[in-house]
Amino acid sequence: IIRVEGVEKWYGKFKVLTGIDLQVAAGERIVICGPSGSGKSTLIRCLNALEAVQKGRIVVDGMELTGNRKNIDKVRAEVGMVFQQFNLFPHLTILQNCTLAPMRTRGVSKEEAEATAMKYLTRVRIPEQASKYPAQLSGGQQQRVAIARALCMTPRIMLFDEPTSALDPEMVKEVLDTMIGLAEEGMTMLCVTHEMGFARQVADRVIFMADGAIVEQAPPQEFFTAPKHEKTRQFLGQIL
Ligand code: ATP
Ligand code: MG
Repeated sequence: IIRVEGVEKWYGKFKVLTGIDLQVAAGERIVICGPSGSGKSTLIRCLNALEAVQKGRIVVDGMELTGNRKNIDKVRAEVGMVFQQFNLFPHLTILQNCTLAPMRTRGVSKEEAEATAMKYLTRVRIPEQASKYPAQLSGGQQQRVAIARALCMTPRIMLFDEPTSALDPEMVKEVLDTMIGLAEEGMTMLCVTHEMGFARQVADRVIFMADGAIVEQAPPQEFFTAPKHEKTRQFLGQIL
């Protein structure tokens, strides 16, 4: 469902992605980890065309992303994204946060958008918060709203960029549980996270990035017990 071929990206003179090849099958759950600055966020943002690449190609669900505006809009409609900072609209209620995009970009009626939003807010177990504003919710609740909001667009792929790293420890589990639920339903997921328990439990494949490249990838069992690359061992030594 995702194909990345020979992708290179620079920020000015700084090469942030140095030749990424990656294929993701529908329904696959991938965890991406690696040291700070290794290009994880950049890679995941490229998959949603939030960043452009200078070389190589990215195909998402059959649509070529590189340089085609129409495809970019289509891909964004199919790819949900959840960030470390929840990025909710502060001046809109939880319900309005969830209905805005479907109404604006899909032409869904207000009634239908609200019904869908309540369905997903129920799924993330905070339907009772629908009429509140983001600032009135805990971090964990806000992040679950961000997940529900993404799901309201019925994406085929969900991208997560360190969704739990801005949360207080006691709120991490509720967000991870939501993500585990999604994974169990068969959602195609790419998650940048250092939650290795999550990786062990749901990932089909763990990808380790360093210096803008994919250094190593393996199923979690193998990745954690027999990392091949010295950089991977170093990294695991630091976080485990
Ligand atoms: P972290 O774990 O800290 O989130 P990361 O692996 O997600 O790190 P990226 O955010 O992808 O790393 O950044 C990779 C490199 O690109 C870093 O060295 C960063 O300083 C640089 N970089 C990121 N965004 C920009 C930008 N907009 N302009 C210039 N350099 C950038
Ligand atoms: Mg990052």
